[in-house]
Amino acid sequence: MTQDFIHIDGSHGEGGGQIVRSSLALSLVTGRPVVIQDIRAGRSKPGLMRQHLTAVNAATQIGNAQVTGAEIGSRSLTFVPQQPTAGEYQFSIGTAGSTTLVLQTILPALLLAEGPSRVVLEGGTHNQWAPPFDFLQRAYLPLINRMGPRVTVELERHGFYPAGGGRFVVEIEPSATLHGFDLLERGELNSRTATALVANLPSNIAEREVHTILHKMTWDHECGCAQEVPANGPGNVVFAALEYEHVTEVCTGFGRIGASAEVVAKEVVRDLRNYLKSDAPVGTYLADQLMLPLGISAWQSGSHQRGGTFRTLPLTRHSTTHIELLRQILGIEINVSTNQPDGSVTIHILPT
Ligand code: AMP
Repeated sequence: MTQDFIHIDGSHGEGGGQIVRSSLALSLVTGRPVVIQDIRAGRSKPGLMRQHLTAVNAATQIGNAQVTGAEIGSRSLTFVPQQPTAGEYQFSIGTAGSTTLVLQTILPALLLAEGPSRVVLEGGTHNQWAPPFDFLQRAYLPLINRMGPRVTVELERHGFYPAGGGRFVVEIEPSATLHGFDLLERGELNSRTATALVANLPSNIAEREVHTILHKMTWDHECGCAQEVPANGPGNVVFAALEYEHVTEVCTGFGRIGASAEVVAKEVVRDLRNYLKSDAPVGTYLADQLMLPLGISAWQSGSHQRGGTFRTLPLTRHSTTHIELLRQILGIEINVSTNQPDGSVTIHILPT
């Protein structure tokens, strides 16, 4: 019935693909149908692109959903899910679109499904404006696993823009509820590393990137690693990981035509310094991604500890938009308090 639909304004706030993906993820978890209008209205190519469509199709398959508007360029979508089904799935984007973003759309439902799942994803694994595989594996999933489920990922092949062709496999052991947690401190620093990868490009690109990061950060030689990897086309990514007792932060730079190895590495250094300026554990990207599972935990009844509190850097527009979306769909309370003097922010995600 029409009145049961949750109406989502796809142009609201940040107005990007995250509104679509998170609406689908939460529709699958809550069982509530959604209608999303004005999808990506503010973007230069509005509407659903192939990567978003793959996420819609993946959510449709997992929730055996009825859907209208699932086509490239579509600016509105209705989605009526049934009970999500665990099992074996394979989703191919067919371009270099981000596979990790497709996974984040369906993962919450599979974390709570009635059996284990195995998902194969094909497309881009290291895309600009999306979580790279290494961020997913080292920063995001350890926190998901802290909530009860057990998720492991294995990268079989790197996929870079524009050739794509990457592939990774996800194994999911679900849990009946998502336990919340508090993340207020980083804890001890256990390791720091800078890793640069090149595919079908001169290896000195990766070496110069690692050198730039080690030099600018005054890190020891042993912290660096430059590697050549096989892929369908040319590609380059460099990331630095800070592994603490309670959290890992991964800062990434994406090689691209027109940007020298030094410029790409300096982008990583900028993000590292920004993170190290404060002692908040949750970085800017992790913050908007972590809100969704903690929001589900707050929404679920019977969860051992429901919701949670975390400390992060000043909020991005992705985060503020996500907070409003989670409040609207889940009916939970999210409070934001700014801490003086370092500008860090504490987010409380609570049941109503
Ligand atoms: P959207 O722009 O709406 O498609 O959302 C992009 C998503 O990718 C957000 O959840 C961001 O936090 C995430 N993201 C973008 N760049 C990175 C990055 N370098 N590392 C980790 N996550 C990222």
